[in-house]
Amino acid sequence: MLSRQESELLAASMDIDRADKMVENVVGRLVLPLGIGANFLIDGQQHLIPMAIEEPSVVAGVSSGALLARAGGGFRTGSSEPVMIAQIQLLDVPDAAEAERAIFAARAQILAAADKSPTLSQLGGGPKGLEVRHLPDTQAGAMLVVHLFIDCHDAMGANAVNTAAEAAAPLLEKLSRGRAGLRILSNLSDRRRAWAQVEIPAKAFDSEEFHGAETVERIAEANAFAVADPYRAATHNKGIFNGIDAVLLATGNDWRAVEAGAHAWAARDGRYRALTDWQLRSRGGSTSLYGRLELPLAVGVVGGATRSHPTAQLALRILQPLGEGGKSASVIGAERLSRIIAAVGLAQNLAALRALTTTGIQEGHMRLHARQMAVTAGAEGEAVERVAAALVAEKEIRVERARELLREYKAQDLKERAGELRP
Ligand code: NAD
Repeated sequence: MLSRQESELLAASMDIDRADKMVENVVGRLVLPLGIGANFLIDGQQHLIPMAIEEPSVVAGVSSGALLARAGGGFRTGSSEPVMIAQIQLLDVPDAAEAERAIFAARAQILAAADKSPTLSQLGGGPKGLEVRHLPDTQAGAMLVVHLFIDCHDAMGANAVNTAAEAAAPLLEKLSRGRAGLRILSNLSDRRRAWAQVEIPAKAFDSEEFHGAETVERIAEANAFAVADPYRAATHNKGIFNGIDAVLLATGNDWRAVEAGAHAWAARDGRYRALTDWQLRSRGGSTSLYGRLELPLAVGVVGGATRSHPTAQLALRILQPLGEGGKSASVIGAERLSRIIAAVGLAQNLAALRALTTTGIQEGHMRLHARQMAVTAGAEGEAVERVAAALVAEKEIRVERARELLREYKAQDLKERAGELRP
C-alpha cells in the first residue's frame, strides 16, 4: 500500500531540522510507536487506523472492539458542520441589553470584519453567525461575551478563529461601548461534533467462558455506572481517549484541544459523565447491544502539524478507505477524520468494557506490559518474548524478576550455543 519512500519515511520519521522549525529550543525528538488499529468497518468502508501511542494493549484492544462491531455491520457515523467558536470578552459595558441590540443590528458588518481568511471564504467557510452571552456575576463583575461561529472546513481552525476574533473586536467595542478583553477560540467546540454508533448481536459476545447475553447486560450496567459517577466516568473516558488521542497524535492534530473540549462537553449538564451510551435492545426475541459515542471533535487535515509533520501526512494516507484489492479509494477530509475518530473511541471503549466485565482488564494488559518489563530489564530480540512469557506464566510482572529471568535466559542460551559448537 505504501511506496518504498513512504515506508522509509515511516521508519525515519522527522529529522532534527524539521523538528527545530516546529517548536522552540529543540534538543531532540521523542519517537513513539506507530501501530495500526485493524478490523474497522465504518459506514461500509474499511479503514486501517494509524495510532501513535506508548501504552501497551491499546492497539490490540481497539482492533478487538472493531472486530466485535463488524458482527453488527460495523460503525455508523455522522457529524455536524465544522463550525468553531471565537469568543470576544467585553467588559465595562454600560448597558448590556442595549449592547446586545446594537450587536445584532450590526451582525453583517461584524461577520464581514471577522472574515480575514480569503482561503476559507473561497471554500465557502469563514464567519457564519454570532450569539451574545451575558455573564452578569463574575469575580470581575458583569461581562458580555460575543461568540462568532466560524466554518473552518478542513482546518482545525485555531489560528483562523483567533484572527477572526481579533479582527472583530474593535467594532464590538464600539457597538457595546465597552472594552474588549480576551479574543480567542473556545475549545468547547460543541457545534463541531462527531458521533459513532453500533448495534451488535449479543451472541457475538459468546465465548468459552462467558454467555454473550450476560456480557452485554454487564456492559450496559458498567456504562450506567460511568454515567452516574464522575470517579468512574473519568476512567471510562480516559479509556476512550486511549484510542482517540493516539489517532490525533498520529495525524498531527491537537489532542489537548480535543481533550479539553470533550471533557467540558462531558460535564455540560453540571456533572461529569461518561461520553458513551450503551443499552440493550430486544428485537424479535434476540438481544443486541447498542452503543453510541458523541463528542466535540475539532480536527483538521490542513494546518498546524497535520501538514508540517511528515509522518502525520502519511498517517492521513493510511486512513484513506481501502477500496477493491486493498487500494486506497479517496482522500480523507476533516469531517471524515472526525467520524473515524469517533468510531475509534467507541471501539476502544467497547473493548475495555468487555474486558472489565469478563476476564478483567489485567489479563490482556499484563501480557503486553510484560514485554515492556522485559525490554526495561535489557532484553533484546527473542529474549523479549521468552522473558515476557515467563513473567506472565509466573503472574509476577516486575522489572526485578525480568532481570533475573534475563540472566537465566542468557546463561541457558550460552550453554546451548556452547553445546552446538561441540563436535
Ligand atoms: P493553520 O492556520 O496552520 O491553517 C488553517 C488555514 O489553512 C486556514 O485559515 C486557511 O487559510 C488554510 N486552508 C487551506 N486549505 C484549507 C482547507 N481545505 N480548509 C480549511 N482551511 C484551509 O491552522 P489552524 O487549523 O487554523 O490552527 C491549528 C493549530 O493551532 C494547531 O497546531 C493548534 O495546536 C494550534 N492552536 C490551538 C489553540 C487552541 O486549541 N486553544 C490555540 C492556538 C493555536
